[in-house]
Amino acid sequence: MKNICIALLVSAFIISCNSKNNVHTKIVGSAFFIDSVTVKKHLYTLASDDMEGRETGTPGIEKAAIYIENEFKRIGLTSFDGLETYRQTFSFVPRGGEVEITTANIIGVLEGKSKKNEYVIISAHYDHLGIRGKEGDTIYNGANDDASGVTGVLALAAYFKKVGNERTIVFAAFTAEEMGLIGSKYFGKEIDASKFVAGINLEMIGKVPGFGPNTAWLTGFERSDFGKIIQKNLKGTGYQLFPDPYKNFNLFFRSDNASLARLGVPSHTFSTTPIDVDKDYHKASDEAETLNMTVITQTIQAVAKGTESIINGKDTPTRVVLEEKKK
Ligand SMILES: [Zn+2]
Repeated sequence: MKNICIALLVSAFIISCNSKNNVHTKIVGSAFFIDSVTVKKHLYTLASDDMEGRETGTPGIEKAAIYIENEFKRIGLTSFDGLETYRQTFSFVPRGGEVEITTANIIGVLEGKSKKNEYVIISAHYDHLGIRGKEGDTIYNGANDDASGVTGVLALAAYFKKVGNERTIVFAAFTAEEMGLIGSKYFGKEIDASKFVAGINLEMIGKVPGFGPNTAWLTGFERSDFGKIIQKNLKGTGYQLFPDPYKNFNLFFRSDNASLARLGVPSHTFSTTPIDVDKDYHKASDEAETLNMTVITQTIQAVAKGTESIINGKDTPTRVVLEEKKK
């Protein structure tokens, strides 16, 4: 099956090929570089009990930080403006707490070929809820939330390193999202937002969506034309993007995309999870085994294909409309 795929790749853009370990959807030839074996490795490592639920300020999240740094290094990313390493380190006192925590966003960069001063950010949060309670399973692994998103960031970094990019891409694993979008807010304070043409945030991309297989939904769809650009690029692939169907959840403002959106950046979150019925959300049961590797892999491929014209500088989404919904 694999060889047939490669043969098809040479002559055709649209392929359909599945084997046990590799998932190639109809998405396109170039997405061939995003494979489910690598996806599974990232996901199972980040969501392992060894990382103890990756709570900000604990040894568990430090292990995740080192894993992400090593991947960025292996891929060949450079560090972000003004930073000497991949770490953007800062300290904060959590809401309702007294003890200051020192933590870091992990940021890597692929400089653009022709538009290096125009940035696209691809992000996910690498923290989760840590260890809670005393009996039974006490580790909140956060496999879907958001080891799946970080897996996407790592896979897309490797992908764009191979295929090239006209605009500069900033790959960010944000810390302390679960404590109130702390890492992404800190990142937002340090940047010139006018340089950022788009924000692609990945959050919980491991479960089959309510819309069915080969679909994802986007938060804040109507707030810029980012989603329409993605839909245009996905035409003919068999993969569809829908507006966020869970309006009452106010999800646009509940993930890291909001920190950049508040600065005017068309910054949106992709998700596949049927969050209204997801029994594992913020539970110890959010384990790697509950996720569908095909869904994650195909969604990452769809993000690669869907954002292509933005990464290549052909499309520039409109700035985001900011008003928050009044309750
Ligand atoms: Zn999350």
